[in-house]
Amino acid sequence: MRINLRKAKEENDQYLDIDLTIDLESIEGVQSIKIKEPIQGKGRIYFTRDGMFLSLTAKALIESSCSRCLKDFEESLELKMNYEIVSSKKALEMDKEEDILVVDHDMIDLEEIIIEELIMKAPMKPLCKENCKGICNSCGQNLEEGSCNCAPHKEVEETIDPRLAKLKGLLKED
Ligand SMILES: [Zn+2]
Ligand SMILES: [Zn+2]
Repeated sequence: MRINLRKAKEENDQYLDIDLTIDLESIEGVQSIKIKEPIQGKGRIYFTRDGMFLSLTAKALIESSCSRCLKDFEESLELKMNYEIVSSKKALEMDKEEDILVVDHDMIDLEEIIIEELIMKAPMKPLCKENCKGICNSCGQNLEEGSCNCAPHKEVEETIDPRLAKLKGLLKED
């Protein structure tokens, strides 16, 4: 959904309501993110004396592979965006990079904004659940589905960094 801001400002007094659906075809092959259903976006563009502001929320259902046990799972992500819309010239003057959306030539592309936010918010190391036990590194058994006969498994955190585990031990003795 592309919007001409200058026109929208002329045609709408104080704000413009936004309601959009990003269908699956237009988000095919977005990085490595598997999107399961069309993304719904809702929001508003405000035209004020102090400038233009965009407030947008979107919901996306994505499928990821757990970084510990490799199982595929679905997860719903809520995206919340609040931006001041500025030109690149003004952005330079403002000396801040957060919460601004640089728009030149009056055109904004809301799909692009939502997809960029989704890429930023999608977890780098997805977990099917917070304390997923992962896979036994001796026999490959998915420990979420059942235990194996190997030696007792240490806590996942402790196997990641033995130095940290040692530190934990020291703290306990205190
Ligand atoms: Zn898992
Ligand atoms: Zn095992």
